[in-house]
Parts: sequence; structure tokens; C-alpha cells
Amino acid sequence: MTAQIIDGKTIAAELKQKIKAATQMRLATGKRCPGLAVVLIGDNPASQVYVGSKRRSCEEVGFKSESFDLPESASERELLDLITQLNHDDEIDGILVQLPLPAHINTDTVIEHIAPHKDVDGFHPYNIGRLAQRNPQLRPCTPKGVITMMQTTGIELKGKEAVVVGASNIVGRPMALELLLAGCTTTVCHRMTKDLESHVRRAEILVVAVGKPNFIPGDWIREGAVVIDVGINRLENGKLTGDVEFDKASEKAAWITPVPGGVGPMTVATLLENTLFAADELNQ
Ligand code: NAP
Repeated sequence: MTAQIIDGKTIAAELKQKIKAATQMRLATGKRCPGLAVVLIGDNPASQVYVGSKRRSCEEVGFKSESFDLPESASERELLDLITQLNHDDEIDGILVQLPLPAHINTDTVIEHIAPHKDVDGFHPYNIGRLAQRNPQLRPCTPKGVITMMQTTGIELKGKEAVVVGASNIVGRPMALELLLAGCTTTVCHRMTKDLESHVRRAEILVVAVGKPNFIPGDWIREGAVVIDVGINRLENGKLTGDVEFDKASEKAAWITPVPGGVGPMTVATLLENTLFAADELNQ
């Protein structure tokens, strides 16, 4: 079998077009444009790239994007005060604080300080709790983007054996909740998992979010599986690669996402989708 590519770049571009059209409709009915505040602390080069792409995408779809760049030395109190101000700003529907934060700032404290109805990253315990209870509101962007990709491609999820490799708060865990919600029988693997290979070998839907290049050997992939590679790893030669051995996995999978051009663009498009949802439904 030679896998078909799930083209995240194209699916994300179509999603952005829909968001742009919906934004124009909002404006035509006299409503204000959705507003996203993007907060960056310090000068982590990868974070600067991600934040730049989020800000540009906001402009593409006609949102108002407000940038807040704080120095690495900014205190937790300063950041919390900024979030308080944004929580009360009627023109801001979404607040995104780019992670990771400097070591002197407590990430959980910051996430929990964002008003849940403006938590467009979907990381607040309220939003994770709603997803866990099958009543999602603002859903973590990467896992939601993965579900959108599979649904757009026409992949059936109900009753499937899904295996998630990686159990972080921002990808693996909410991914497992999304797959459960979509009707999969879901297994989550992490560092303590015994015999990872046996789990990967029985996956009909495999989502990998570990952050190690070529971590999953291609010959572990089940014949006809759907392989979603969330990993983004920069090699010494500057190239980006995923967590799955792409070429060999493509010989066995039915569908596979490339890196780059797979999950990454979906994450940004889903952030915009969440911001529009917050503007339409939660912050009127
Ligand atoms: P993370 O917080 O470092 O989590 C990595 C996960 O992998 C952890 O749950 C860890 O298990 C697990 N793991 C590590 N070594 C393992 C092993 N040997 N066997 C099984 N599991 C193992 O990373 P993350 O934030 O979830 O990100 C993962 C990757 O996705 C990174 O490459 C990141 O750049 C990428 N990413 C991409 C997007 C996108 O839009 N495409 C968005 C977010 C992240 P423990 O929990 O047991 O430690």
C-alpha cells in the first residue's frame, strides 16, 4: 500500500477562507471583528516563529490582532496583570500566551488566570474538563485540528482502535479525549508504557506527539492505518521532520500527514476557528 497524503496545508487554507467569509458576515451585520491578543515573553526563536504565524493568520482572515511582547525578565505578576486587563477588554475574544514560559513563571497559574471564555488555546482546566465530560467548548487547537483534518478527509473514526503516543497536557492527553469523543477505542502511550511497539502495531488511527525525530519505525505501522504525525523536529541540516519514519510508514499506511505541511497549519487555523467561536458564542 502507498499512503495518500493528508494535506493539512490545503485543508487549513480552506478553513481560513470559511473563517474569513464568516468574519465578513459578522462585519456586514454591524458586529465588531473578532480580536485575538497574542502574548510573547522573551526571545525564544521557535516561539517567535509560531507567534509571527499566528499574528499574520489573524490579519489574513480579518481579525484584530493585538501583540504584547514582554521581556524575558517580566515577572509573573506583570503577566497576570496584563491577562486581567485583557480578560476585561470587550474587544478581545481570545487570549493566547505563547508557551513555553520562562522558568520563573508558573505555567499553570498563568493558564488558570485566563478567563475560560477567552481561552482560545483550550488549556484551562475548565475547557479540558468540558472536553472530558463530552460537552466541549473551547478545544485545544492541535487535537481539534487533527480531528478536523480526518473528518475533512472522510476518515471514519467511530469504533476504530486509536493509539496516541505522547501524553502531554497540550497534545497527547486532549488528543485522547477528542478521539474518545469521536467514538474511538483509545489507548494513550507515554514514557512508562511497556512494549510500545505492540500498541502501535494494532493502531488503526495512530497519532504521535513525542518530539523525537523518526521515533516510530515505519515497519511498526499497521497495514491500512491512518498516521498523524504531530512532531516537529529540526534536524542539524535545518530541515524539519516528524516523529514517524515517513517513507517506510507510507508503504503501509492508507493515509499519512507530512511534516511540514500536515498538523502544523491546522493548529493555527483552529486557533482562528476558536477565536471566531469565542466572538460569536461566548463574548457577545
Ligand atoms: P512534550 O510535552 O515534551 O511531551 C512529549 C510526550 O512524549 C510526553 O507525554 C512523553 O511521555 C512522551 N514520550 C517521550 N519519550 C517517550 C518514549 N520513549 N516513549 C513513549 N512516550 C514518550 O511535547 P509536546 O508539547 O506534546 O509536543 C510533542 C511534539 O509535537 C513536539 O515535536 C512538538 O514540537 C510538536 N508539536 C506540534 C504541534 C503542531 O502544531 N504540529 C503543536 C504542539 C506540539 P511522559 O508524559 O511519560 O513524559
